[in-house]
Amino acid sequence: MDNKIFLYNTLSRKKELFEPMSPPHVGLYVCGPTVYGDAHLGHARPAITFDLVFRYLQHVGYKVRYVRNITDVGHLENDADAGEDKVGKKARLEQLEPMEIVQYYTNRYHKNMEQLNVLPPSIEPHASGHIIDQIGMVGKILDSGYAYEINGNVYFDVVKYNADHNYGKLSGRSIEETLENTRELAGQDEKRNQVDFALWKKAAPEHIMRWPSPWSDGFPGWHLECSVMSCKYLGDTFDIHGGGMDLVFPHHESEIAQAVAANGKEHVRYWMHNNMITIDGQKMGKSLNNSITLDEFFTGNHAALEKAYSPITIRFFILQAHYRSTVDFSNEALLAAEKGLKRMMAGVETLNALQPLESSTVDVEGLRKKCYGALNDDFNSPIAIAHLFDGVRMINSIKDGKEKISEIDLDLLKKLFNEFVYDILGFISEELETKEDSKMVDGLVQTILDLRKEAKLRKDFATADKIRDDLGNLNIEVKDTKDGAVWQMIR
Ligand code: ZN
Repeated sequence: MDNKIFLYNTLSRKKELFEPMSPPHVGLYVCGPTVYGDAHLGHARPAITFDLVFRYLQHVGYKVRYVRNITDVGHLENDADAGEDKVGKKARLEQLEPMEIVQYYTNRYHKNMEQLNVLPPSIEPHASGHIIDQIGMVGKILDSGYAYEINGNVYFDVVKYNADHNYGKLSGRSIEETLENTRELAGQDEKRNQVDFALWKKAAPEHIMRWPSPWSDGFPGWHLECSVMSCKYLGDTFDIHGGGMDLVFPHHESEIAQAVAANGKEHVRYWMHNNMITIDGQKMGKSLNNSITLDEFFTGNHAALEKAYSPITIRFFILQAHYRSTVDFSNEALLAAEKGLKRMMAGVETLNALQPLESSTVDVEGLRKKCYGALNDDFNSPIAIAHLFDGVRMINSIKDGKEKISEIDLDLLKKLFNEFVYDILGFISEELETKEDSKMVDGLVQTILDLRKEAKLRKDFATADKIRDDLGNLNIEVKDTKDGAVWQMIR
């Protein structure tokens, strides 16, 4: 690993040299979606941020085990200890099984991620698939004395934990400050302290998702799943934990407390948090009435959108800002991203058509160093993109004959652009692909149908039928009309 990567650790509040516990292996855990609605722009940001981290770490030679969970149980309304389960409520309103809701929105989330060219994680565990493990961790925390049971509910004893460890070391909040902020919230009288949070909740009679446990028929607290599934797949202590800044408190703070209480070991070495997307300076999210789903962006079907924006435009828009800065949404910003992406892709096309000369007047090695330098400095994608635009200017000058490039340098420049634009930043030339793809499909299907026609002429109906059926399996429907065979794609 020649690349020294520095990343900002939320825990130490400074940039640190990234040194994984057992290189080349890296454990990366990122909090995934709660699947009870369509993904919006706010979901795209952590997914794309940590996709860049995943891609770049692999690019420089690490073997990354990337775990991103699906929250399908225990996430109650308003992120609090009380209230209805988000998935359960949707199931009740739609009169569906909770797992139908989970499957439906998980499928749609995966489709959106694929559209954004976000790579799938190495493991995608579901909270509901890890109830036994969660019950196990609650037992360990009870044994260590940092939890207590009342009326079938188990709570984490934050005050006791804080006396021995520091509850607040990630968020920088003191327990007094937390007490101050939570005193107003009533209705949890059975807890020893207002700051305590639920590890296991007894299910009310009308609560749908419930499992037997030593304490009650119930369900796990929301924070628990991430401690359990990260430790299960990455070890009690692992390298990087990521998520949105809105999860620092109480979710991640509580994850640390649970893992430390259960295992007696440090939980995570580097905490990384992406900043939020704002609309007119306000946080964008489901809870606010200003969220626009990704599908609405891709179709333009929303009052706040002047037009449709392609998935890779959204990706470019997000990566044009550093992950720790806020991104403010506007049509102007998206139009600028669309233009930027086109300019970048046109640069790649020009680059691929350049002819080398005997010598160079351009500094490709310098450009390469700058691009790596940007990503080594806390994954600074906007600076890397700015350097690539310097590269596009270089490419255009070579095309115009104002600069020269040697064969060795041209190969180096092509490698640099291929790796950074496609492999690391994950951009795709969308227009080109769809146009060329559909031209190619047209040609291929026509060739196959011509072969089928010949088979029919020599009365080889078995082959003709096989061709029709095989195409049908590929969702290409063939119909025989009096003017010959016609075909269409069925979606
Ligand atoms: Zn989580």
